[in-house]
Amino acid sequence: MQEIKVTLTTQKKEKPAADKLGFGNYFTDHMFVMDYYADKGWVDPRIVPLANLSLSPAAVVLHYGQEIFEGMKAYHTPAGKAVLFRPEKNMERLNLSADRLCLPKVDEAFCVEAIKKLVAIDEDWIPEGENTSLYIRPFMIGVDAHLGVHPAKHCMFIVIMSPVGSYYKEGLDPVKIFVEQEYVRAVRGGYGFTKTGGNYSASLKSQEKAEGMGYSQVLWLDGVERKYIEEVGTMNVMFKINGEVLTPSLQGSILGGITRMSCLELLRAKGYKATERRISLQEIVDAAHNGTLEEAFGTGTAAVISPIGELIVGDEHIVINNGKIGETAQMLYDTITGIQNGLIPDEFGWVQEVK
Ligand SMILES: *Cc1c(COP(=O)(O)O)cnc(C)c1O
Repeated sequence: MQEIKVTLTTQKKEKPAADKLGFGNYFTDHMFVMDYYADKGWVDPRIVPLANLSLSPAAVVLHYGQEIFEGMKAYHTPAGKAVLFRPEKNMERLNLSADRLCLPKVDEAFCVEAIKKLVAIDEDWIPEGENTSLYIRPFMIGVDAHLGVHPAKHCMFIVIMSPVGSYYKEGLDPVKIFVEQEYVRAVRGGYGFTKTGGNYSASLKSQEKAEGMGYSQVLWLDGVERKYIEEVGTMNVMFKINGEVLTPSLQGSILGGITRMSCLELLRAKGYKATERRISLQEIVDAAHNGTLEEAFGTGTAAVISPIGELIVGDEHIVINNGKIGETAQMLYDTITGIQNGLIPDEFGWVQEVK
């Protein structure tokens, strides 16, 4: 493996108070960077003081969106050890996204090591306090100065980190979700299954509309018939109907969440019936009407589990579980965060120490 050159900052920043963090507002002292050249491969892996980038205004990422990213978190266990949650899955997914956007693949094991090294260096940035963690944002951009539309020959892979509190101001309180029936996020054959900025720029208009009406996020329907449930803005979605947990199957337009995967594994290990299949919006509305819709919740690294208290479908407001968190969502939240924080034994081998 290549050696990672470390240059430490001489000006450590002051750390924000744990109760004022919010999400993604502050950044740690260092970042990881490496460059890719088509004729050399990945070179010059380095940890350096966090600083602005210098790019050509013709850099392809600025014009054609050749960008992918990941989102993961580091936690402190009660014993004071810094740990990561299934980081190899993030690097696996990064390569899946890279393939679709014609970006170069990375050495997954090397990148996990690089991230561990970066976390170890900025370990004092892992906040202490309930619902806090250190959010890690690896990303890759094409930086060739070239206005033709071609896959980039010079790319950068960078990892920055941000101490965070709750993703939603609601915390674990149920959120209100607007079912989007006008705009769509992704179609099969597109790149909905990748973590790329373009999926998010496509979502902003709708997100703004939902927020303007007082709702936290948007629930997307399939891009062709606008009939089947896809996912929520930054989360996958699960429903509990008649005792069975249902989540949309991965068919190319939905992001395959690591929290989603972990929830499914956990549910099945605990003897719940958990099914991945196409789910129509009508099925959810019908279940709400006949009293079998027991729970709905989002799953994602940022919020882990986010219970949905209300779904807004056209003029109808569907209140779920009296607007309270349900038993399954609570169990998943407690178990996953318990494993992440080292409070519950890690039977699945999901947690890795950084050093
Ligand atoms: C990141 C993301 C998720 C959640 O994935 P996790 O790996 O669980 O964090 C869900 N949907 C979209 C669109 C995402 O970008």
